[in-house]
Amino acid sequence: MLPLLNASNEVKAEAFLTAALPNVRYLTGFTGSNAAVLITATRAILFTDPRYKTQSAQEADCDIQIAKGPLAKRVSSVVNRMRLRTLAFELNRLSFEDHEQLKELLKNVTLIGVGGLVETLRMVKSADEIATIRASVNLNSVALEQALGHFKPGMAEVDLAAEIDYRMRLLGADSTAFDTIVASGPRTALPHAHPSAHPIEANELLLIDMGATVAGYASDMTRTYVVGKAGTKIRRMYKAVLDSQLAALALLKPGITCAKLDRAVRNVLRGYGLDKLFVHSTGHGLGLEIHERPRIGRKEAVKFEAGMTVTIEPGVYEEGVGGVRIEDTVVVTERGCEVLTPTKKDLVVL
Ligand code: ZN
Ligand code: ZN
Repeated sequence: MLPLLNASNEVKAEAFLTAALPNVRYLTGFTGSNAAVLITATRAILFTDPRYKTQSAQEADCDIQIAKGPLAKRVSSVVNRMRLRTLAFELNRLSFEDHEQLKELLKNVTLIGVGGLVETLRMVKSADEIATIRASVNLNSVALEQALGHFKPGMAEVDLAAEIDYRMRLLGADSTAFDTIVASGPRTALPHAHPSAHPIEANELLLIDMGATVAGYASDMTRTYVVGKAGTKIRRMYKAVLDSQLAALALLKPGITCAKLDRAVRNVLRGYGLDKLFVHSTGHGLGLEIHERPRIGRKEAVKFEAGMTVTIEPGVYEEGVGGVRIEDTVVVTERGCEVLTPTKKDLVVL
């Protein structure tokens, strides 16, 4: 937690408070559903409730306070007892209601809003975190392979999605990292379609976007298939997206900005006249959360660093026709990047 203390010194606060569960887990190892962490120059205290008395002692390696009733009350009484004058809180994580409550309880303390302190630390993963993400990615790919073994044309999108989720759980995932996307036919043009009762018919596109959570860490992969025969238009869309994805992977290395990588993807798609159909960013960081910093978008000035884990997921979506997206989870290395996702990505006809 020391780097965080340095960081909170930079924001001129005597202490830092987070109640965001992924940040709590990152800082202390505690995985419960109700917690806050207070960090000062000399101490770190985890606050949780009596349900987690045993679990918190097993998981966290800092001081623990078990509070009956609202955590904010206990946190405030500790802050007051320590006679702290300034307390940094997370602007993007604390609700307005909680902020008002803290203000009420901490009349003599100046609350200082800070953004993304822990999230910035979380961008670069440790070797252990990368190993866990690798395991999550591998499990996710095995789950897809097993689920596709049960696929036949005419199967409903919801049924294939359920098969995918079931396989993930059997393989040992904590859960899915997000609601599995299975879309077919023209519905693939919806980048975040919810699986429907629509049957997956022959000669249609099939888009699957899925991720597992394993030991707390997310994986994320999209594959687009053709059921039956692929027409010329679809083949060209697929080639464009694959070319743009491979271009990004070839360029990705420490020192280049997220914006530059995003631009490279758009340039390849422009060569096909398809850049206007790419309506989201190129990718995102992932770890304890499915979407983390950095966001690989047009305006993101963050430079890649070795140890970052991100997705690369260009896609093109044409209303009435369909969409193609190809997404891998990758880790930035000293000289480039390593694609963790083992699933092949040439156009597969099911
Ligand atoms: Zn995805
Ligand atoms: Zn993604």
